Amino acid sequence: MPVWSLNQTEERPTFVTHLECSETGKTFEADKPYNLSPAGKPLLVRYDLAAARRHMNLDTLAQRPMDLWRYREILPVRRASNIVSLGENTTPLIPLPAMARRLGARILLVKDEGRLPTGSFKARGIAMAVSMAKELGIKRIAMPTNGNAGAALAAYATRAGIEAIVLCPDDTPEVNVREIAAQGARVYRVNGLIDDCGKIVGEGAAQGHWFDFSTLKEPYRIEGKKTMGLDLAEQLGWQLPDVIFYPTGGGTGLIGMWKAFAEMEELGLIGSERPRMVSVQAEGCAPIVKAFEDGEEHAPRWEGASTLAWGIRVPKAIGDFLILRAVRESQGFAISVSDEEITRAVAEAGAADGLLLCPEGGAALAAYEKALAEGKVQPDERAVLFNCATGLKYPLVDQSKILDHHQLPAFSTL
Ligand SMILES: *Cc1c(COP(=O)(O)O)cnc(C)c1O
Repeated sequence: MPVWSLNQTEERPTFVTHLECSETGKTFEADKPYNLSPAGKPLLVRYDLAAARRHMNLDTLAQRPMDLWRYREILPVRRASNIVSLGENTTPLIPLPAMARRLGARILLVKDEGRLPTGSFKARGIAMAVSMAKELGIKRIAMPTNGNAGAALAAYATRAGIEAIVLCPDDTPEVNVREIAAQGARVYRVNGLIDDCGKIVGEGAAQGHWFDFSTLKEPYRIEGKKTMGLDLAEQLGWQLPDVIFYPTGGGTGLIGMWKAFAEMEELGLIGSERPRMVSVQAEGCAPIVKAFEDGEEHAPRWEGASTLAWGIRVPKAIGDFLILRAVRESQGFAISVSDEEITRAVAEAGAADGLLLCPEGGAALAAYEKALAEGKVQPDERAVLFNCATGLKYPLVDQSKILDHHQLPAFSTL
């Protein structure tokens, strides 16, 4: 089966019926551009799943390429010609046998999202959102980013012939800032955090300069990110793991997967079983963890946010209540880890199993280790950790030593 062979002339139907406010349940007509609902909350896309079920099932899926678009009955894009693609392949589920042995666990799996276009799982959400922007005739987009979302937007918008303006905190990893520009967007460094960038983007949108593509402020990124749940279940033979560790910034992926599981049940692909959803954050920016522990429905802004895991340095998430709802409904939990634990976990996975994690993936591994030690997860449970981006995008520790080619080294000491 081809890994990627999107047929752009193919017309498989989507079964979108309407959009719905995630707080009030108020419904909105499909096929129009939207930001937040009038209640100021994210909109969710709804489908006629009973009808979709007749087209998307184990038999039809078996015929399709292993990419994100294989699930298109429950994706929002109507016309295949509007699909903007850079090859959104299914990502591998990689065991960490040495780490599992070391921790006394039966099995430990990493969903390695670093293999996607632009090197992160942001490609899933942005491919979908940009395809919808193309379908809806949007010409200019702006977005605040910690790096990876901006890189994905740059690539996909350029490919769609849409103008993209990206604002990032001035300490965003250099490679992210440069790749955004290299892929055709205009990038600005802002002396603030991602929500400070978001305020500028929001004001510009209010003045009619561009369309606001902030996390969850347009409804289609969730639809792209939800394919992680479909992908994962399909790879496990339409079974779900016992527990999922998800490094959480805006929470799009966690919210999206939780939505996907409900849709998959209605499609008859899985039963009512669900994994426990674990929201992983860094100690230096853990608004969701604090709200979870305080029993709150919303998470107040985290002041003085600081962590080397930039992708989860989000002081205030607009979908906080959706993240917390999914975590609680799943009987999961929220957990934070320190930057030292993150750095150690990245080093451990690389040295023990040869898999280079990004810092956020390291946070997931560190959180798994901590949860195992605290008895929140059992060693015989099947855990899946999300590695959100390729570790190659981040500054790596220099561990090399120097050799002088004028004299041969003492070989036995190398
Ligand atoms: C965006 C991002 C995250 C957080 O993802 P959300 O779904 O927005 O919570 C985690 N890690 C990396 C590397 C990211 O780019």
